[in-house]
Amino acid sequence: MRVAIVGAGICGLYLTKILSQKGNEVFLFEKKEVLGEKACSALYSERIFDFFPFAKDFVENEIKFCKILFPKKEITLKFKRRFFVFDRKKIEEKLFEEILKEKNVKIFLKKEVKKKDLQEMEKDFERIIGTDGANSVVRKYLGRKNFPSFLGILAIFEERNFSNFVEVFPTKKGFLWKIPRGEKVEYGILEVGERAKKIFDDFLEKRGLKNFSQIKSAPILINNFWIPKNEKITLCGESAGMIKPWSGGGVIWGLSGAKILTECFPDFLLYKKRAEKFFKKQIFVSNFLKKSVYLFGFNFPFFLSNQYLIDGDFFSIREIVREFFSNKV
Ligand SMILES: Cc1cc2nc3c(=O)[nH]c(=O)nc-3n(C[C@H](O)[C@H](O)[C@H](O)COP(=O)(O)OP(=O)(O)OC[C@H]3O[C@@H](n4cnc5c(N)ncnc54)[C@H](O)[C@@H]3O)c2cc1C
Repeated sequence: MRVAIVGAGICGLYLTKILSQKGNEVFLFEKKEVLGEKACSALYSERIFDFFPFAKDFVENEIKFCKILFPKKEITLKFKRRFFVFDRKKIEEKLFEEILKEKNVKIFLKKEVKKKDLQEMEKDFERIIGTDGANSVVRKYLGRKNFPSFLGILAIFEERNFSNFVEVFPTKKGFLWKIPRGEKVEYGILEVGERAKKIFDDFLEKRGLKNFSQIKSAPILINNFWIPKNEKITLCGESAGMIKPWSGGGVIWGLSGAKILTECFPDFLLYKKRAEKFFKKQIFVSNFLKKSVYLFGFNFPFFLSNQYLIDGDFFSIREIVREFFSNKV
């Protein structure tokens, strides 16, 4: 089949690789000239190795746990899976190298797909997949507005830090973070757009953190999960809102969605059904969990335990009940 993929982020690259290996003729369109530059902390669980075994060569540091620092309570979140901080650019470059070796792939860099292009593409291609991120043009073309109301900002400091935990400082709707990246340290924020920059600036100033070597930001499409009811055009990754509502992380979720898509391909309606079944439950449970922890953490911290053990990517109701309401670890 002739397939067009719009957006060469991590999900678009993965889909290009798998669908071309399955014998499809894949045309990949990317608006940028250079890949892997997106603002992203690249903190992923070991599930990333199921998709990209080579990612083990691009680990910057291992993270064993996360400290959530509410004003009057410190909670330690331990992970059932191993988590690592990666060099995302190198992962995407390596993936791109692999794709270049595939015979059935044609890549168009510096090609921004616009709404009018999509009209033409509908005639030229048998399937179109939008993996074009938070401000997806494919999503808009399908008549669904984007509401990337959250903004993620990160700043990198040239300071060696191999500690094995992430610090998280909850804010009203999101959180600030400190991630030890081995040779570097990253501070960042996820918050509602208009507030994010001000809170982040105040946070850095209070800590006397001035000389960052890099600062990047990008919108995040939280709580906007949607897959069109369309046999020919679909969405995957962040353009479909495959984003964890409690952390803004979207790489393992997006790749999990992409895996479902490759299994259902070319049946986009089956993909919609299976992805909805999986993600809607995850989104509901994650939102419930985040709201409960924030409510108790800010107002009734004594009800929370000091330590929880979680999966870090996916939740089950049973896990929540066991960990968050039994108060035992
Ligand atoms: C500050 C920050 C930190 C984050 N940290 C983490 C983290 O630690 N762990 C995690 O799992 N997630 C994290 N995320 C989220 C993660 O970056 C996204 O979930 C992930 O990048 C989504 O992948 P994607 O392939 O769906 O989209 P993207 O990575 O956004 O890729 C979309 C691609 O489409 C291209 N594109 C867009 N429009 C067009 C167009 N019209 N035509 C052609 N090409 C187009 C873009 O240039 C881009 O290359 C973070 C996000 C931010 C902002």
